[in-house]
Amino acid sequence: EAQLPSGEQLPRYVRVNTLKTTVEDVVDYLKRDGYTYQGQASRLDDLTLKEKSFVKDLLLPELLVFSSKTDFHDHFLYKAGHIILQDKASCLPAYLLKPPSGSHVIDACAAPGNKTSHLAAIMKNKGKLFAFDLDAKRLATMSTLLLRAGVTCQQLAHQDFLKVNPDSPQYKDVEYVLLDPSCSGSGMVCLQDRSSADQTRLASLAAFQLRCLNHAVRFPRLKRLVYSTCSIHSQENEEVITAFLQQNSSFRLVPLLPQWPERGLAPLSQCLRASTSKTRTHGFFVALLEKHSEALSSTL
Ligand code: SAM
Repeated sequence: EAQLPSGEQLPRYVRVNTLKTTVEDVVDYLKRDGYTYQGQASRLDDLTLKEKSFVKDLLLPELLVFSSKTDFHDHFLYKAGHIILQDKASCLPAYLLKPPSGSHVIDACAAPGNKTSHLAAIMKNKGKLFAFDLDAKRLATMSTLLLRAGVTCQQLAHQDFLKVNPDSPQYKDVEYVLLDPSCSGSGMVCLQDRSSADQTRLASLAAFQLRCLNHAVRFPRLKRLVYSTCSIHSQENEEVITAFLQQNSSFRLVPLLPQWPERGLAPLSQCLRASTSKTRTHGFFVALLEKHSEALSSTL
């Protein structure tokens, strides 16, 4: 049996930024640039590519997949903001939240902003995208990234999300929240050797993550909330969601992507996990929470 792929061997994922270009144009550009397009992948093994071959992802329509050795950091398409270098698992939260064009959305812990730019692309830059982060340096990086990506619907704030007032009139139409809080990072392949599970640290991260969730659902018109971490520890994933559901009976988990091969640990099989061995990505967790509609609760 082969060893688990190391970080070096993960495919390179490229998200096409539809605010600036189209998948077809990027594919054509890369073909002219010496890459070989092999069409859409149909199984996981198709994501293991050689040299300059590339495919369209199995699932995510705007994701292209390259061999692990590919580096686009100096490429025109990257510098011009036409492509975003983003792991496949980290494309799931915005893709699953799917805020409609024109909606009001919060990205609670947003920097450096890859998910923010993905949300803006899904919203077609229409509506309002409130993005918060505590770290000024990361926010500065984020401004550059969003400018390069052509994002214009955002309102960035250097603010503690836990101190944002949910009853402020500016948030009265917020129906969608993406919550990707600080976590142990134990799913990042490059960090895995160092990710000894320090129980005190995990407990304090989990407490913070649960506070963020409980804060997010105080926005009065919230309908859907996506929660994600790049942690492999159930303390930061299933256990946080279970505690949240115990405290918030008006929310339920939305069953996600039946075709996705790795599920949340039992009994939370509605949620997704990701890993190098099962999904060829970094380790990741994602849950989608939905508020019961009044119609639904009246029939229960
Ligand atoms: N969503 C980001 C992306 O996809 O590019 C990555 C977010 S990272 C996992 C978590 C972020 O939360 C960090 O940038 C950190 O500074 C920020 N953060 C931590 N505590 C916060 C708080 N109380 N309010 C807002 N942001 C916070």
